[in-house]
Amino acid sequence: MSDTAKINLLDLNFEQLKAFFSDRGEKAFRATQVTKWIHHRCVDDFDEMTDLSKSLREMLKRDAEVRAPEVVLEQKSADGTRKWVLDLDNQATASRTTPAIGNKVEMVFIPEDGRGTLCVSSQVGCSLDCSFCSTARQGFSRNLSVAEIIGQVWQAKRTLLELGEDERLTNVVMMGMGEPLMNYRPVIQAVNTMMDDMGYGLSKRKVTISTSGMVPAMERMIEDTQCALAVSLHAPNDSLRDELVPINKKHPLNELMGVCDRWVEAGPKRNVTYEYVMLEGVNDNREQAHELGKLLKAREAKVNLIPFNPFPNSGYKRSSEARIKEFKRILNSYGVFTFPRKTRGDDIDAACGQLVGKVQDRSRRHLKFAQPRFGERNSK
Ligand code: SAH
Repeated sequence: MSDTAKINLLDLNFEQLKAFFSDRGEKAFRATQVTKWIHHRCVDDFDEMTDLSKSLREMLKRDAEVRAPEVVLEQKSADGTRKWVLDLDNQATASRTTPAIGNKVEMVFIPEDGRGTLCVSSQVGCSLDCSFCSTARQGFSRNLSVAEIIGQVWQAKRTLLELGEDERLTNVVMMGMGEPLMNYRPVIQAVNTMMDDMGYGLSKRKVTISTSGMVPAMERMIEDTQCALAVSLHAPNDSLRDELVPINKKHPLNELMGVCDRWVEAGPKRNVTYEYVMLEGVNDNREQAHELGKLLKAREAKVNLIPFNPFPNSGYKRSSEARIKEFKRILNSYGVFTFPRKTRGDDIDAACGQLVGKVQDRSRRHLKFAQPRFGERNSK
């Protein structure tokens, strides 16, 4: 059997792994043993799986592999944030469908007191065109497979295991490159594996899908997963949101808020975190804070105010701390829980497609953005 026909076990959930063994006349408990080696101990060499018989290991070597994306760059920030750039060209199936044009994604681990959050990518580039996002400038290459998404968690956990710090990996957010809900099935399977005890055993409220507002896919999510939901709102009305998050033209705010409400109603522990990137002179004035407060006051909502992460030719500036504080004060006056987020890992560009953006801006789209879009507003 050639290498390309091997089954990458990172592509399988626990049920599929059981089927893999039963198809080969093996007992179901083999799946338990192997899943522990793969996801709990982060072992990729079948010879190290010492509680399996030699013949079973030979079968696995012949039919299967454990292949995560390859780490090509690792950086550590002064504040402890770690960032990895991963090369997907070692993924046999992927490179058959897409020519090797530097398929790289990044992931970031942010340790904090009592928790550690891993930020995972779902696509190489992104097909949406959010005006303040550096990933958008790189264009879209392709979707990641389940193995490539789960393989990110696997790689991060493996590094942390080596450091004796794996317990620190408590949260995963699908907030790296890409729009997770444009790669629906692999993303849902991957997040469900992250929450499965036979996977990474993370708690349901600590695995988050972040979306720009893909309403039909959000509707499906209600049934398909118990993970947490974050929505990139960024504007309190349609005219501004059309400009910042263009998918809004297709799925405007009334549709988006409708599905968010259904999400909350569908379960006792479900709420929505709204993300709001603070762009100076664009979406950060008092009137906009009041508008947002009114939009969210009757809802099960939490707002994260994200300081804009600048990148070359973005055309935007980060709101001042005073502005962010004032915005929060107004939202609080409507009873909306609001959390200004700290920036982390600034010294290693640990945000939003920025490192990969430096090594590959392969689309011609960056020319379109050569002039700042909001230069006039920002210069006042
Ligand atoms: N496509 C998903 C995941 C994107 S990244 C989504 O839209 O939710 C996660 C968050 O970072 C999103 O809220 C996104 O809007 C925000 N973001 C993108 N670029 C940013 C930047 N330059 N500065 C701060 N936040 C940014």
